[in-house]
Amino acid sequence: LDLYGAPVIGKHERWLGIVIVAHDISALKRLEQVRKDFVANVSHELKTPVTSIKGFTETLLDGAYKDTPSLLAFLEIIQKESNRLEMLIKDLLDLSRVEKADFQVEAKPTDMKKVIERAEELVRPRLEEKSIRLETELASVIVQGDANRLIQVMTNLLVNAITYSASETTIRVDLSQQQSEAVVHVKDQGIGIEASEIDRLFERFYRVDRARSRNSGGTGLGLSIVKHLLEAHQGRVEVESAVGVGTTFTIYLPLAK
Ligand code: ADP
Repeated sequence: LDLYGAPVIGKHERWLGIVIVAHDISALKRLEQVRKDFVANVSHELKTPVTSIKGFTETLLDGAYKDTPSLLAFLEIIQKESNRLEMLIKDLLDLSRVEKADFQVEAKPTDMKKVIERAEELVRPRLEEKSIRLETELASVIVQGDANRLIQVMTNLLVNAITYSASETTIRVDLSQQQSEAVVHVKDQGIGIEASEIDRLFERFYRVDRARSRNSGGTGLGLSIVKHLLEAHQGRVEVESAVGVGTTFTIYLPLAK
């Protein structure tokens, strides 16, 4: 509670009383804490790759460049860390755009089957790298949406399904129309998510297992971007998961008008 008091003085310096203003700032304080955590997280996430790039560059300049194997190994690390920085900055910019209260998508009739097929193409190299099969059952459904944004949603969900699954497993994607909505399931046979973690998945930078997720190359921003993009479409996302069995993300989108 924020308290502010002031005397009220009338004519001839006469005391009339005291005005006390009490202001409930707990909501404000919470917001402020969320903002501080966010800034701390961003700084940490940005600092880690920069520290590594600086360290390896200095070592190279100090003479390690003369040793060809080290030179190559260090350059590869520098490249990997620069890519990571680039991805983080891109995700941060995306998130700050989609989080704005006035963010709007350019929604027009869009073939959701084509959106999913495009996302599939984009993740194809990752699927092949891990020998993960992708099975699809896609009805022809026209939604009201922004194709590029929806490709981004589908790509994020597919990349996660691949990242958190073992090799040789199967991911199933199906698209159907149920009443006045398009429904997409992305179902994996991956590591699954504890029930207690589900509520926090869509928070910025939230990761169930920080170390493992960072090694997997993610930024921890993917699902918050998904959630905001779907909300901007008047859609939504739901998760069902069992540890060691797999996870299903379901998205709902309004049909074209
Ligand atoms: P990240 O870049 O770390 O993948 P996301 O915002 O996309 O960030 O996801 C947040 C966290 O949710 C991940 O770090 C991971 O712990 C968990 N997660 C997301 N998708 C899956 C999935 N398909 N299976 C298991 N865990 C998942």
